[in-house]
Amino acid sequence: MSDKHAEVAGGGFAGLTAGIALARAGWSVRLHEQNDELRDFGAGILLWRNAMLALEVIGVAPAIRAHGVVPDVYATSLNGEMFTPELAGYPYWAITRPKLHELLSDAARAAGVDIRTGSKAVGADPSGALLLADGTRLEADLVIGADGAGSAVRNSLPTLTQERKKYQDGVCRVLVARPEEFAGPEWNRVIDYWTLEPDAMRILFITTGPDTIYMGMMATTSNERASRIPIDPEIWSARFPHLAPVIELAGRATGGRHDAYQTNRVTPWAAGRAVVVGDAAHAMCPALGQGASVGIVNAVELAHTLGQYESVDEGLAAWEAKQRAMTDAAQARSAYMAETRTLAKGNGFTPEVMETANFVLDAATPETIALYPVPEVNR
Ligand SMILES: Cc1cc2nc3c(=O)[nH]c(=O)nc-3n(C[C@H](O)[C@H](O)[C@H](O)COP(=O)(O)OP(=O)(O)OC[C@H]3O[C@@H](n4cnc5c(N)ncnc54)[C@H](O)[C@@H]3O)c2cc1C
Repeated sequence: MSDKHAEVAGGGFAGLTAGIALARAGWSVRLHEQNDELRDFGAGILLWRNAMLALEVIGVAPAIRAHGVVPDVYATSLNGEMFTPELAGYPYWAITRPKLHELLSDAARAAGVDIRTGSKAVGADPSGALLLADGTRLEADLVIGADGAGSAVRNSLPTLTQERKKYQDGVCRVLVARPEEFAGPEWNRVIDYWTLEPDAMRILFITTGPDTIYMGMMATTSNERASRIPIDPEIWSARFPHLAPVIELAGRATGGRHDAYQTNRVTPWAAGRAVVVGDAAHAMCPALGQGASVGIVNAVELAHTLGQYESVDEGLAAWEAKQRAMTDAAQARSAYMAETRTLAKGNGFTPEVMETANFVLDAATPETIALYPVPEVNR
């Protein structure tokens, strides 16, 4: 157990996970969220095996397993042709973002994290202090910037360099009420519908619970109508006529959002006693749905590694040395998949592509690893 104190900026998946992991290791933790309430927006998310193992370490995985859906297969269709379904038996979960966020927020409170909403960070001092917009300076043994891709904490630390890159595609994400005709368990799956001509458009259909379906609708950002929120049913139904009824539902959905694909790669992740985690450190293209999962893994492993060192500085260096290669590979692989749109051709979840999803963090125990066996074909 530790008697150290951490100040965390950002109440997203990475910040909450880091807060829970540190608090469970005996740290006192205060978490600052700039918004007046803790929340994530209303679409869905896939949590891969790497994230589930990390969430086991902090005790949140059983609730995810209870509330999420295990897709029976991942089926890909290009221009109406269906390829061999993949990932049968693979241990990953689909869940709504608000539910995941609620489960993490509850766990953070239960672990004793002091959550301050309406509290905006403007920077960090590497000697160990978080700086707030109201002028407050909060001393800490560790300051965590988990404040997303636009991280103010990261931007205040001149020794952290950042490479940013934008890509050709973007995604509209909406959550729709699950229609009667999709009520059966045979729809608890991921279906990835693509067309590539005259330009790329894709509908990723993911059942996230008994009442909800998450639709990720990808198009090039230059296709203005297909990048609109609310969804423009006419342009999507013209490409995917057989999906017209659910596209209609997507058009009526409230609370959707559009994001262009972009990445940032930060080097190094720490300056003195200040460190960045999650999208603040390594936002990645969502082509493999791994951004939050890698952030969750790194946040849990951060607390685990710090527990092995007396000095925070040494612990941070050891943690980055351990997690960097996996994270860089995940970013590079996601960028490649986004640039080439390789998944459209089906049968894309090769063992190499699955390397990030299969990653086992050091903090995982043999008992929890045994709960998530990987089918031979995906190893
Ligand atoms: C289309 C799309 C699909 C995706 N699908 C998946 C998927 O299926 N699986 C997966 O693992 N990942 C997925 N991702 C990636 C995932 O959404 C992100 O990696 C993840 O949400 C990042 O979490 P975070 O906590 O690092 O940052 P954020 O979610 O950005 O959270 C940052 C938090 O910090 C707060 N904040 C910001 N600035 C300040 C400040 N100055 N002071 C205090 N608080 C502040 C914000 O309000 C927010 O609450 C997807 C991403 C996209 C774009």
